[in-house]
Amino acid sequence: MIDYRSDTVTKPTPEMMQAMLNAEVGDDVYGDDPSVNAFEARMAKLSGFQAAMIVCSGTQSNLCALLAHCGRGEEYIVGQGYHAYLYEAGGAAVLGSVVPQPIKVQSSGELSFADIAAVIKEDDQHFAITKLLSLENSYCGKVIPMEYFSEARIFADQHGLAIHLDGARIFNALTAIGVELKDICQYVDSISVCFSKGLGTPMGSVLCGSSDFIAKARRIRKMVGGGTRQAGIMAKAMDHALDHNIERLQVDHANAVLLADLLTESDKLKVITPQTNMVYIDLDDSIDGDLLAKLLLAEGIQISAGQNLRLVTHLDINTADIIYTADTIKECLKLL
Ligand SMILES: *Cc1c(COP(=O)(O)O)cnc(C)c1O
Repeated sequence: MIDYRSDTVTKPTPEMMQAMLNAEVGDDVYGDDPSVNAFEARMAKLSGFQAAMIVCSGTQSNLCALLAHCGRGEEYIVGQGYHAYLYEAGGAAVLGSVVPQPIKVQSSGELSFADIAAVIKEDDQHFAITKLLSLENSYCGKVIPMEYFSEARIFADQHGLAIHLDGARIFNALTAIGVELKDICQYVDSISVCFSKGLGTPMGSVLCGSSDFIAKARRIRKMVGGGTRQAGIMAKAMDHALDHNIERLQVDHANAVLLADLLTESDKLKVITPQTNMVYIDLDDSIDGDLLAKLLLAEGIQISAGQNLRLVTHLDINTADIIYTADTIKECLKLL
């Protein structure tokens, strides 16, 4: 099966499994796991932050970050379509009494500074206390450029806000613009990075920030049940991903462009040129998207059904798969 639903479907390679098997471990809640300690130190160095903490998932990472930045009755400004608002079951509000202030996301994936300024509350007993700006990069496969983050830093400083960056797919964004993790981290107060997506680990994310911030986040991680024991197994998988699965992200990006190029000829598809590993395709109304998904499934190609498709390339999809997929989609379109 060639699975385009997400890059979360990637399975650990035998080499990654071997690295996990060889992990030297200890009890991480006691701070005893050497593999975790080494990996967290590596991530702190890479990001340019003082400290880093492994977490089970990106959702847990964002939750720890939001609760470490904001207390009860304090608010974070966030994009309406951003993961840290829309796709985390309202965790910060449910578990931390943190007030979300969602605003419109521009077509570029950015939040406009005018829109942000308009919702920052003045110091008045009527209002929640605005504390944090929560950004995302990449957003729906779109890369937010470095200039945006340098402007965001100046803006946030002017308004006394901290910045959290949900960088679930930050390495895709960095690969597309050719800069390093610490280059973008200089502009934010914390970053969350997922390893279970394009980087191919079975689980795990990392939250980076100042020592004080991570100490606070560590207590919250424990509170939400994220203190794990022989977590070196997870850390070694992530360490392996750093060594082997970052540079190859450009292959996923090239495969996405190839798939888009091969499909643009069809007049029944509106294909958006991908910036990273996501190909967005709008189907003509004359095409039944659910039926297309069924036909493709019978040919060994799995996509999420609907009229607006998102096809995600990743390390379990190679160039031959892409060519086969484009050919098969074109054949199926003839039947619809
Ligand atoms: C996937 C994702 C997350 C959360 O990741 P999980 O590990 O699935 O909880 C957070 N933010 C963004 C932008 C994501 O794409």
